[in-house]
Order: sequence, then structure tokens, then C-alpha cells
Amino acid sequence: MTAKPPVSPSAIDTDQRPFVLVWEVTQACELACDHCRADARPGRYPDELTTEEGKRLLEEAADFGDGQLVVLSGGDPLLRDDLVDLVDYGTDLGLRMTLTPSGTTSLTREVLEDLKAAGLQRLALSIDGPKEVHDAFRGEEGSFRQTVDAAIIARELGLPVQINTTVCEATVSTLPAVRDLVAELDAVLWSVFFLVPVGRGRLLENVTSQRAESVLEWLDEISEDAPFGVKTTEAPHYRRVSLQRNGDPTAAPDNDAIGRRGGIIAGDGFAFVSHTGEVYPSGFLPKPAGDVREDGLVDTYQNAPLFQRLRDRDELQGKCGACEFRHVCGGSRSRAYAATGDPLGSDPLCGYYPEGYEPEDAEAAPYEG
Ligand code: SF4
Repeated sequence: MTAKPPVSPSAIDTDQRPFVLVWEVTQACELACDHCRADARPGRYPDELTTEEGKRLLEEAADFGDGQLVVLSGGDPLLRDDLVDLVDYGTDLGLRMTLTPSGTTSLTREVLEDLKAAGLQRLALSIDGPKEVHDAFRGEEGSFRQTVDAAIIARELGLPVQINTTVCEATVSTLPAVRDLVAELDAVLWSVFFLVPVGRGRLLENVTSQRAESVLEWLDEISEDAPFGVKTTEAPHYRRVSLQRNGDPTAAPDNDAIGRRGGIIAGDGFAFVSHTGEVYPSGFLPKPAGDVREDGLVDTYQNAPLFQRLRDRDELQGKCGACEFRHVCGGSRSRAYAATGDPLGSDPLCGYYPEGYEPEDAEAAPYEG
């Protein structure tokens, strides 16, 4: 058994700074994936943050404190011609710069070499299933091959690779095959994303809460021996499942595969800056709390009422509010918002009902996306 990758030694104060800051550098993308949150289109928007505005944003990110993790996302960030410059600038500021490009022909060895030289610390690539499933999902024949090739090149360059996988009805049965591929590609982390019905993802069929529960149990089981870390995105109840499986359900959780302690959820340990500079609790929770051009990033994260409320787990409503796991989990605030219109509502993908809790009729219904 290969040792799991090391995790960050300490938790951070999520009242003060996000553990993960995602900047959607552009919404432009050559692909049109079935699940795309951004509803990406081929062309760049004229009012994207400029290079200078982007650098100011990175300077502000550095104000959160040393080693702030920044994920450059899209769309496809490779469609910005200043990408290497931005990675270089962020690295010089002491930021941990990572990237989630789309699996296209733009992911050449030359580009990856330039990004590595600029200080890129991790490349996160999406693989949603074996070739046929992935290419159908991504809407582009060849995307699977291009993604796998990029992972192989990155490994040759010594650039750590993370694999992101979307779970929905169309992909869930292929998770074991993807797990094998993640190991084969020598990835350091598998991030398993549970669909939130926003953007084009609204049209996809989600798994039921029972199926989600089985997947989370399976993930917890395989994480014990996997040669890579396992984390979930938009499924913080993974922590609840793990605690229930591993004995004392009330025990304080350890740091997870990326060093997160307690449930990092939208607005609490997580922030998202859109291509035009709006600050959101998450890219999947389309409720802006501020704007980097007007309000500043740090001030919005620390003081915007929406962010502050999301960090107060006692403000949660419905079964998440009644749940003894709310401090380690808290539910997906994005899915709660998509399902109920209330970012503090219940996460309908969670199959757990706190003892003595009388579910509302709507909450008792199986998840229907
Ligand atoms: S009810 Fe909500 S807080 Fe409790 S485990 Fe489920 S998602 Fe998490």
C-alpha cells in the first residue's frame, strides 16, 4: 500500500479567510459539458477582469495570509493569454496557485512546462468516466484522451495532478473504473463532485439520496487503501458518513485529504470570484455578496452578511439546522439554495435524519434534482 499524500498540518480560521479561493478567470470554453455550472460559451466576455485587475485580486488574496490556496478556474483558463503571467505573479506573492483547465488540445506539453516554471503547484483535471462516458458528458470526442495525455505529461514534469469527477445518474456506475484510472495516473487527490442543479447541470438527472449515501460509504472505504487522497465537493456529509462508519460519530474530525478540518462549505472556508469580479460563497451558489471592483475581496469574505450567516451553523434551517453533525458537515449550501431558494435550508441529497426530527413533506421526498 502506498502512503497517502501528506496533509496540511493545521486548520485555518475560516472566519478570516477561505481555505479555497476560486477565481473563474474566464467563462470562455471550447467545450459545452453537460454539467457546466458556468454555462460556458466559446468567446470571452468583454467585461472580464483585466490582467491588471486580476493582479490586484491576487494581491488581495495574499492579504488573507501566506500560502492562500488559489484555484484558477473557468470556463477554460487556458483561453486567457495572460494565464502564465497570472500564475507567476501569484506565486511571487506567496500564493499556492493551482489550475483547473478543460481537457482540450490547448493542454500541450509546452503550456504545462510554462505553467510549471511559473510556479503552478497542482493541475486539476476532470475525468467523468471511461472514454465513451467522459466524451459524451463533455460533448467532445477526444476530450478523454487529451485529458489523460495531459495528466501523463504533468506527471513527467513533476506537477501534481488532481482528478475531479462529477457524480450524477449518467456517471455513477463508472466510479470504480475512474478510481482505477486515478491510481494509474498517479494522481495525488480524487475530488468527487456531487452535482448541484445549476447552469447546464439543471438538465441532468441527479442520484437519489440513498445512492449518494452508498457512494459516500464506498468512498470512505476505498480511501483507507487508495494511493491518493479522497475528498468530496458539494457533499460535506461525507464527513458524517465517515464518522458514523468509523466508530464515534461525535468525535472531532481529522483534517481531510487537503487539510480541511470541519466541513468547508460555501462561504465558510470557500469563496468564488466570477469572471467579472462578483464574490460568491461558491460557484454553485449564484447569490453575489460583493464585487472585487467595488467592495474588495477580503472585506466581502469577512464581513458580508451572507458570508457571516453561512458561517454560523446555528443559522441553518430544516434538518441541517437540527442535525448534530452540522458543525462538521453543514450540508451543501449551494444545493439547498438550488432546491429551496434558501441558502440556509436543508441539503436534499443527504439521506440522514437527525433523531426526533420530523421531516417536512418536501424534505422527505427523494431527491429529484
Ligand atoms: S442533515 Fe445536513 S448537516 Fe446533517 S449530515 Fe445531512 S447534510 Fe449534513
